Amino acid sequence: MGKEVVSPIECVRIHSYRAEAIGLLSGLMFLQHVEWKGHVEWHTDSQSVIDTWKRLHCKYEPNWLKQKERDVWMRLWKQKAHWKGRLKICWVKAHADTLKRKSTEDEKGNQTVDKLAEDAYHKLEHTPIGENGVINQNTFSTVGAEVYIQGVRMNGNVGQQIKEQAQIERAKREAKLKPQQWGQNTNEVDWKEMLRTCKNKTIADRKGMMLDMWNGKWTNEKLHKIGWESNAVCHMCGKATETFDHLILECPCFRGAREKVPIDVAEMVKQAGGSNTLQAVIHQVLGVHRGAVPKTRDTINHWCRQQYDSNWYEGDENKTKNEMVRALAEEIVVEMKYSLPLWNGVLTKAW
Ligand SMILES: [Zn+2]
Repeated sequence: MGKEVVSPIECVRIHSYRAEAIGLLSGLMFLQHVEWKGHVEWHTDSQSVIDTWKRLHCKYEPNWLKQKERDVWMRLWKQKAHWKGRLKICWVKAHADTLKRKSTEDEKGNQTVDKLAEDAYHKLEHTPIGENGVINQNTFSTVGAEVYIQGVRMNGNVGQQIKEQAQIERAKREAKLKPQQWGQNTNEVDWKEMLRTCKNKTIADRKGMMLDMWNGKWTNEKLHKIGWESNAVCHMCGKATETFDHLILECPCFRGAREKVPIDVAEMVKQAGGSNTLQAVIHQVLGVHRGAVPKTRDTINHWCRQQYDSNWYEGDENKTKNEMVRALAEEIVVEMKYSLPLWNGVLTKAW
């Protein structure tokens, strides 16, 4: 247990807490099905599942609105009433085989189950949910208050999730109107990843990012337009109109910083175990030529397209990993007309 499943809705994030709870539910439902009359001792490495189980009272309904993974816990709540005192849940240390001591029998059991889950995951990786024994949530009858967004059942704090999804839908609509900042094809933007990555930033950081994303920086061009500056020339180099594009992609005064970005990113990729090809590809995608980045990728699309076509076509199993990585990078360069989305840090699915 513990592998993530991708949901089409951005505000739904599936994590190990859900997977562990489903594991417990499946086990109990199976034992109930075979009419097990004895006692059950269940071992799990998820303390939060144990805590929630303890909190569930058989006698009255919990406050379901705030309960995460409500659909699973509603059913576990019924299970608790069924098993009464016959079920004991114990905590077991996960991944104890990485420690410098011998694993206990319980821990060995945990590792075996982890291995089974891993195998099952790989076996079913390309199977649509609902087939071959994967639980299809829609086959459950509806119990209690359930909230759906675009056909997907909400499992977390509903109020929070509705608000988050409404915000992201609005951002998607607006992003389509600004291809220079967000890219030609906004369907390629990994909104879910962006939701996650903006989590641990300060308000000032987020404000700066927003201004970048929505082309909202007060450049001289804008200040000149509203009459606050006598001219629109760049404060730094004094050679061109000070637009956001100019500052990020062209201004010679930031040449050093610009050239450092692909080097730094490639270094991070290297440290994370990325191959030489991947590092070379980073340079290609973040392409800096003579200290500047081309505003649109038209100029380099020509030779990129040729390489892309030769390296890639879908479903070709004979390609090596290196060729595929290279082709993915070329795909980004070919498909993404504007350079800014990459330099803004807008992630794409291709990453
Ligand atoms: Zn300049």
